[in-house]
Amino acid sequence: MFEQCIIKHDGKIQTPDFPVIPYIEGDGIGAEITRPTLEVIDHAVRKAYSGKRKIQWIEIFAGDKAYRQTGEWLPADTVTVIEKYLVALKGPLATPVGGGIRSLNVALRRQLDLYACVRPVRWFQGIESPLKKPELVDMVIFRENTEDLYCGIEFMRGEAETAKVEHFLMKELYVKAIPFPGDSSYGIKPVSKNASERLVRASVRYAIEQRRPAVTLVHKGNIMKFTEGAFRNWGFGLIEKEFQKDCYLEKDAGQSPESGKICIRDRIVDAFFQDMLLNPARHSIVATLNLNGDYISDLAAAMVGGVGIAPGANIHFETGRAVFEATHGTAPDIAGQDKANPTSLILSGKMLLEHIGWQEAATLIQRAVEKMFQEKTGTSDLFAQTTGARMVGTAEFAERLRAAIEHFD
Ligand code: ATP
Repeated sequence: MFEQCIIKHDGKIQTPDFPVIPYIEGDGIGAEITRPTLEVIDHAVRKAYSGKRKIQWIEIFAGDKAYRQTGEWLPADTVTVIEKYLVALKGPLATPVGGGIRSLNVALRRQLDLYACVRPVRWFQGIESPLKKPELVDMVIFRENTEDLYCGIEFMRGEAETAKVEHFLMKELYVKAIPFPGDSSYGIKPVSKNASERLVRASVRYAIEQRRPAVTLVHKGNIMKFTEGAFRNWGFGLIEKEFQKDCYLEKDAGQSPESGKICIRDRIVDAFFQDMLLNPARHSIVATLNLNGDYISDLAAAMVGGVGIAPGANIHFETGRAVFEATHGTAPDIAGQDKANPTSLILSGKMLLEHIGWQEAATLIQRAVEKMFQEKTGTSDLFAQTTGARMVGTAEFAERLRAAIEHFD
């Protein structure tokens, strides 16, 4: 077997039968969930393709493990290897203390320009939910990944730069709206037309490809008119220019939605939170800025069982470059106790298989997870309060998933 790269050619991902795919084990519970995840994926691939296809995993390093080996939290090599092999799987990474990096996850997404964070959220039968009808939840959240307040452009109260920023605002731009000059910290929120448009474009294309009924643009444009409001306006402008024949606007629909077309909805984020709880079926694809996307993703996950089962991917849709990752953190409080739920990473692995076109293997994983949860078998974060459930540890859960995959026709 030779080194084989997945490539994107003529707009399509092309996957050799024995692709090399790098993985990052991750910190905290990373060691416990990543190894079983690779085994579940390998098992599904073997079952689906009878040995004619196999992933050649290679370990690359970031976080604690990288720091111990190289003195760097995110070695340049790690980024180069992902660029070369196009896709990667990643366990959760701890936030380094000191060293100038605020978040390794953010740094990795930024360096690879993985501009869309894609998080599918759906309910599994057997999982307890705070909703009356959790079966109505089936959303895919597209969160802009590269800008907004996540750029980390902040100035701390009392520092020399902060005084300069404040002086510039008040004396050169004649800003009068600062309530407490001399006593304030500042944060800057860049939102560009380019980043807004490519995120909205990716979300609408996805809706078309996956035959989804609606895309909701979520923003706080009534207050932040030139950032969140501009995101909304650029998004709607792009949809009108590039997708007019595929879409119709909710406000124009009246009582009769146009059949086969995608309904484009417009929501202020606070109203959206209410709507996603009360009318989850209305929202199928959600396109939003970085910070809104962070809040929305965690609420959406909580509606269907929590961060332990919510998968995620960070994707650059034009190049096909993508990192598939657990959406939760390193969970240091339960690390090393065989309690961690590996489902988030396993379902992210399923998304990876879909991304590289190995749908049959992806479906096996999906069916196995459905079966486990239907039988109320899972880790304590899901089933500690459920009567009649079979609570298992991380390793046993993964083992049972493999057994389920083995027994499918
Ligand atoms: P970090 O600092 O890396 O963000 P954290 O503990 O602050 O870590 P999370 O890791 O997201 O944030 O954890 C939030 C809570 O959810 C914790 O109580 C943790 O134990 C729990 N949790 C997170 N992931 C899992 C998982 N995969 N299985 C079970 N519980 C989890």
